[in-house]
This record gives sequence, structure tokens and C-alpha cells, in this order.
Amino acid sequence: MSAQDNNSMTPVPALSVLAYFGASPKFQRVKPTSNLVRPCAQQLRSYWERIGKPGVDLTAELESRLAALHQVPEVVAANSGFWMLALLIEAARSPGRCEVIMPSLTYRRMADIVSWLGLVPHFCDIDPQTLANSTATVADCMNSQTALVIGVHPVGGHCDIEGLQELCRYSGVPLIFDSVEAVAELHQGRVIGGFGCAELFSLGASKLINGFEGGYVTTADAALASDLRCRVRGQGPGRTLTAPLPALHAAMALAGLDELEAQLQRNGERFERYALGLKSLSGLRLVTPDPSYRPSYKNIVVEVTEAWPLSRDITVELLNAENILARAYYHPPLTHKPIAYPHRVGLLPHTDWAATRFISMPCGHQVSLTDIDGIIETLQRIQELSYHINQSVIIGKTL
Ligand SMILES: *Cc1c(COP(=O)(O)O)cnc(C)c1O
Repeated sequence: MSAQDNNSMTPVPALSVLAYFGASPKFQRVKPTSNLVRPCAQQLRSYWERIGKPGVDLTAELESRLAALHQVPEVVAANSGFWMLALLIEAARSPGRCEVIMPSLTYRRMADIVSWLGLVPHFCDIDPQTLANSTATVADCMNSQTALVIGVHPVGGHCDIEGLQELCRYSGVPLIFDSVEAVAELHQGRVIGGFGCAELFSLGASKLINGFEGGYVTTADAALASDLRCRVRGQGPGRTLTAPLPALHAAMALAGLDELEAQLQRNGERFERYALGLKSLSGLRLVTPDPSYRPSYKNIVVEVTEAWPLSRDITVELLNAENILARAYYHPPLTHKPIAYPHRVGLLPHTDWAATRFISMPCGHQVSLTDIDGIIETLQRIQELSYHINQSVIIGKTL
């Protein structure tokens, strides 16, 4: 052994097992956080071969299947959750008022949509327990300009549906829910989809029901549904667009719906596998939904607590280097980046707190139980090497 090998300046050899420090990644193929469900090809073909035949309207068929799933009288589909949300906000809001209350820790385009409609996003805080906007945080933002409240179900939980309904009824403000994260779940024994004026869902490839792209609204309000149908065809008042759901997308979503139960089962198995693995890892807490929700486990989120020796961000970077595409949960909150249009925001202490603590873990159709074991092994290794990692990252940053 040469004198140089003993030099205290040589990098810590143990770190070279991690891809971030030069090893080859743990996984050859990336492990995504998106659901990316692939339905049975034969089933998909059996739907799409009917496209164009007389009397066949797959989009209408999908709408009635979704109405049955959500136990609501009306479903209106459009070409994306994004445009469906734009049409719904425009249709549901109180005329003559301009503010839309929404959380900052949410879907990254929500405020852009509101601004595009000529309205003003008013950002509210979240409840640290549920990670959702709560009755108290929404009430804080209510004023004579409040045109609409958007309750957003976070990953692994529900917002306070009853509390928000009561607040909005009392204040005379319409309430809609973004329920993209709560498809097929139950709330106090009732299927999500029939609360508020209407609820929004997405059929994007990363969602529970994959239509490649697409979105829909569930509602019990027949007048709102027929207004939305006009708007989807480009015939509505106000800022219009034409956004029908193409039949091929409906075919994909129908094929996915046929296998929904099996998918929920597999998602549950993935969640249990994480639960088992994380038991041996102090410092990472699995966000565990209330079992009475019949959770879909469409996404799986862990909290990086004080007991974990590394920051959330460096943990995500280390995982990403291994082709484990974990992501910071709803990062950044909408109010943590410059906003170029009129908006309102006060202090959001719980949003700021949550912004540094949560990780969305790989899950869904492309992630096997063995992959999850590998992800847990990697986290164990990262934990064991945390002292050296912190040293090296600190030195790397100061150089
Ligand atoms: C994905 C998503 C949307 C938008 O749906 P797209 O179909 O992707 O446009 C809206 N809200 C939430 C919470 C989402 O996750």
C-alpha cells in the first residue's frame, strides 16, 4: 500500500457503492412515481374496433360507466383534467366575484388556469395532519370577492369534505373538489364524486384510470352538467375552447376500468411492501391513509422526519442517481416560485413546513414488489452511509 492510499484526503471508499458517487445505478430501467397502467391489449382492441360503427359512442359509454363508479347521475368528459378544470371553474364560480381559493401545495397548473380565466388565485394554507386545505385555512381567505373554493384531496388523505361543505353553504360560495387523487375511494361510506357542486378527475397516463389523456367531472347538478357539455363542445359563454374526449382515449379508459379492481389490489400490495420495508428504517414515515377510505394507493408518500440523517432534497438526489425516480411531493408549492399574474397570499407556515419533508415514492404498474425491496435496500445503504454522505456533500458544496 502506498503512502498516498492512506492519505486522509482520498474519498471515502464506502461511498463508491452509490450511483451518486460513481457506481452504476441500482436499476437499469427507471422506476417512476406515475401509475402508467397498461390494460390488457385484447380488451383495448375490443373497444377500439367499435369506433366509427353506427350507434357507437365510446365517450358516452365511458361517461355512464364512470357515473356508475362514482354513484352520481352526471359525468362530463373532456380531453384533459387541465381543460376540464378550466371549464368547471368558469361554469361553477359566482359571477361578479374574482377570487378562487386553493392550496399552494397542489397540482402545479391550478393557479395558471384560474389566471387564464381572468380570475385571481387566493392561496390558502394546509392542515399539517392531512396536507389538505382545511375549513379553517379556507375560512381565513374568504371575503366579499370569493367566487369559488377548490378543495383538493392530497395524496393519502381527504380534505375536510363536511367542514368545507358547511362553510361554503353558510357563505353562499360554490365549492368544487379536485379529486384526482381520490378516485374510487370512500368517504364516510360514500363514493368520492358526489360532494360539493362537482368533482374533477383526470384520465392522464399517470392517473388511476389511464385514458392516455383526458379528464371528467362528476356532479348531481343536471343544469351544471348540461352547461359543461355545451362548454366542452365550444358552445359555452365566457372564455371558450373545444375540448371533447376522443373515442380512442375513451377506449383506453374503458379497458382500464375493466381491470380497476385488480389494479387497486396490486397498488395495495405495493403499499404493504413499503410498509414492511420501512419498519426497519427509522426516520422515514409512510403516509398511511385511513383504511375506511378504501385507499387507491395511486401514489405512495413518505415523510422525512427529524430522525432521518439526511435532508429530503439530498435523499431524492441520491435515489434519482440509482434510477429510482422519487420526487419531492408537490414541489415547489405554487407560491414558492415567481407568479407573474395577480394573486393573493398570506403566511402559509404549514405549506412551508411540508414543502421540505415529503417524498413521492416509485409505485404503479411499472414497479414490482422486488423493485420495492431494492428501493428499501438502497435507503438502508443511504442511511448507513449518511455520515460520509453529509461530509462529502458539505465539502462538495463549499469547493
Ligand atoms: C394531474 C392532475 C390534474 C390535471 O389533470 P391532467 O389530466 O393531467 O391535465 C389536476 N389535479 C391534480 C391533483 C392532478 O394530479
